[in-house]
Amino acid sequence: MLSEFDLIARYFTRPLQPRSAATLGVGDDCALLAPAPGLQLAISTDMLVEGRHFYAGADPALLGHKSLAVNLSDLAAMGAKPLAFTLALALPAADEAWLAPFAQGLLALADSYGCELVGGDTTRGPLTISITVFGEVPQAQALRRSAASPGDDIWVSGTLGDARLALASLAGELTLDAASLAAAAPRLHAPTPRVALGLALRGVAGAAIDISDGLAGDLGHILEQSGVGATVEIDALPAGPMLACQRPDLQRAWCMAGGDDYELCFTAAPGRRDAVLEAARASGTPVTRIGAIDAVPGLRLVDAAGQPCRISQASFDHFATP
Ligand code: ADP
Ligand code: MG
Repeated sequence: MLSEFDLIARYFTRPLQPRSAATLGVGDDCALLAPAPGLQLAISTDMLVEGRHFYAGADPALLGHKSLAVNLSDLAAMGAKPLAFTLALALPAADEAWLAPFAQGLLALADSYGCELVGGDTTRGPLTISITVFGEVPQAQALRRSAASPGDDIWVSGTLGDARLALASLAGELTLDAASLAAAAPRLHAPTPRVALGLALRGVAGAAIDISDGLAGDLGHILEQSGVGATVEIDALPAGPMLACQRPDLQRAWCMAGGDDYELCFTAAPGRRDAVLEAARASGTPVTRIGAIDAVPGLRLVDAAGQPCRISQASFDHFATP
């Protein structure tokens, strides 16, 4: 059996990249980061717990990818560029057949964003993966939840709901054919953080948030923190290609309150529509305009004819009473 220190040395210690923002990585009491002059550090932590965020026996390579992806998604939603991360890991055993693919999935995603693993903590315990990411963003350019104004357009990136559809299939809530499940499952297990779009939206978007708990709830955070309301056209929402084959009521519900989408929801003044579309083009990320911010508190849903409509599902809350 590997010791704690063998495990860290074998799977989580690598030479620093030449252009790394870190000047000291794994191995000392602290890592040292040297952010570029004039930039602010953006810092976020997200934790994944077995039985809560993923099933026991989940594919370790995908888990490695997802653990970092959900953290990079928070940097994306702030318009921050990834620099480095730390990894706090509780493991039931030092199982190399688990550790090797986990580290491979994690570090492959880290390398594709130039985001360096600079430290962490390792302990025995129920499988829990907690990552803290560090990014950088110029002063006053962070995309804050409090920056939406009445009259702004509301946009979302990519598509919504296919992760929820895959989860429903795995949980036996509905039956999907094998090809549809195979197409939807990567949205649940291996989300793509919208980092390039977040960076391209600096100076273009007002408020932004990443959609982890469902559009209704996450847009709700923007509305609350900005002191505004919104009207969203429900049939304008970009359903994922697999969800788009399902019943209209499911499409509406899981676009609004699916969860695990890791798309960006952001606002921008109508005068910046061309700039938003250019940011989307430059980052290779499709975007859809779904509604508008107004001064009346609350979130109103309308259909294509402008008639009010309701959906039955609320956004995800770990402590909600069933
Ligand atoms: P300390 O006793 O000071 O907390 P540790 O003995 O826990 O330090 O860790 C030794 C070194 O290994 C530190 O630099 C720490 O940041 C790093 N480390 C521990 N666990 C991990 C991990 N899972 N991934 C990356 N680095 C880790
Ligand atoms: Mg320690």
